Amino acid sequence: MTKPVFIPTSSCADDYDPDSMPVAKAREYIRDHLTPVQAKECLPLRNALGRVLATDIISPHNVPNHDNSAMDGYAFNADDLQPSGPTTLRIAGTAVAGKAYVGKIEPGECVRIMTGAVMPVNCDSVVMQEQVQQTGEYMLFGAGVRRGQNVRHAGEDLKTGQTVLPAGHLLRPADLGLVASLGVGEVKVFRRLRVAFFSTGDELTSIGQTLESGQVYDSNRYTLYGMLARMGVDIIDLGVVRDDPQLLEQALQEAASCADVILSSGGVSVGDADYMKQLLSDLGQVVFWKIAMKPGRPLAFGKVGNAHYFGLPGNPVAVMVTFYQFVREALLILMGQPNPAPLPTLQTLCVEPLKKAPGRVEFQRGTLFPDHDGLWRVRPIGNQGSGVLRSMSEANCFIVLAEACGNLPAGEMVQVQLLEGLV
Ligand code: AMP
Ligand code: MG
Repeated sequence: MTKPVFIPTSSCADDYDPDSMPVAKAREYIRDHLTPVQAKECLPLRNALGRVLATDIISPHNVPNHDNSAMDGYAFNADDLQPSGPTTLRIAGTAVAGKAYVGKIEPGECVRIMTGAVMPVNCDSVVMQEQVQQTGEYMLFGAGVRRGQNVRHAGEDLKTGQTVLPAGHLLRPADLGLVASLGVGEVKVFRRLRVAFFSTGDELTSIGQTLESGQVYDSNRYTLYGMLARMGVDIIDLGVVRDDPQLLEQALQEAASCADVILSSGGVSVGDADYMKQLLSDLGQVVFWKIAMKPGRPLAFGKVGNAHYFGLPGNPVAVMVTFYQFVREALLILMGQPNPAPLPTLQTLCVEPLKKAPGRVEFQRGTLFPDHDGLWRVRPIGNQGSGVLRSMSEANCFIVLAEACGNLPAGEMVQVQLLEGLV
C-alpha cells in the first residue's frame, strides 16, 4: 500500500473538477492493491457453485469415452456405400445407449442404432432413420450419404489430460455439469471471502424502530446485503454506527478482526471526511478520492489492519453504482479470480434525450426494452437523483456516458451495462 494521498476537496456542485480521479485510474489503483485469499478447501461439486477453483481440473479420460451415434438411424461401414444408386444393407442387430451391439458387422450389414449408443465394431458412419426405407431385415437409402457422418468421436468434447477448467475460474452451472461429466465429484476451491459492512449516520434508523422527524430508514445495508449475497461471500452485518469517531473506530476494528473486506456507507463526503480521514490514518492506510463520476463522487479505499476497506458514499444509488463499478471486481479478484469479466456492456440506441453536463462519467439508470420492431433499445428512468433508490429498482441497466459527453438528443447510440443476472 502506498502512502495515503489526501486530495484537496472542492464543491460537489461542479461537474468538472481537475482534482478528481478518473474511474479507470481508480479501478487500476484498486486492482494493484488487492491481496486475494490463499486458503483452499475441498468441496462436494454442488457446494462449489459460485466458488473459484484453486487448482486446474484435468480430464481423467476422454469425453465421450467411445465413438457413438449422434442420431437415431443405422450404423454401417462406408466401404459398403454404392458409388451410384441406392445402398442396400442387412440389419444385423440393434444398439441403444447403454447397451452396445455385441460382435462386429460383416460386409453388407448394418446395425439399427440410437443416439448415444456405442458405434459397433467395423462401423464408421450413421445414416438418419428419416433417410432410410426398411423392408423386412433390409434397409436401403439413396445417394448423398457420406463416410463418417453422424458419429461423435471419443475425446471430441474433452481429451484425457486436457485442462478442462483453469485455477481461478468461477464455477457456474455449466461448469458443474462439465466437471460431473468427468466423473469428478469433489473440487478444490478458495475459501469464501468474508465481507463485513455497516452504515454510518446520525439520521439513520433501523427497521422495527419508529421513524422520528429528520430520520431515514437505513436502506444501504439491505442493498449491500443483496449484492453481496449474489456474489456468494460470507456476510457480516455490523448494523448502524453513529457519526461518532469512537464508535466508528470500534466498528472498524471489529470488522477488521473478522473480515477480509470492510464496506461502510456514508461519512466520506467533503463535510464528514475529515474525522474519518484522521481515524483511518490511525488504523490503516486509506486514500480518499473524489471520483470523476456521477453518482458516487466520494470514495475511500485502502486497508484497515489486514482487511481491505471501501468507504462508499451514503446516497443509496451511489452505494450501488460504486459497488458495481469498483467493489464487485475487487471482490472477484479477492475470491481468487485473476481477471474477472467486466459487466456485459453493449451499444444501443437511446429513444429519449439525455441530460448530462461534461466533466464526469455518468451511470444513468435505464430500461432496456424490446421496441416494436423487435430490436432492444434503452430509455432513461425519469428521476436520476442519487438518493432516489426507486430508479435502481426500476432499472435493468446503467447508461454509461463518457466524461466529455454533454446533453444528447434522442436517437443517439449509447453504451449500456447490463444489471440483469449479475453475480
Ligand atoms: P453521507 O454520505 O453520509 O453524507 O450521506 C449522503 C446521503 O445519503 C444523506 O442524505 C443520507 O441521509 C443518505 N444516507 C446515508 N446512509 C444511508 C443509509 N444507510 N440508508 C439510507 N440513506 C442513507
Ligand atoms: Mg452521513
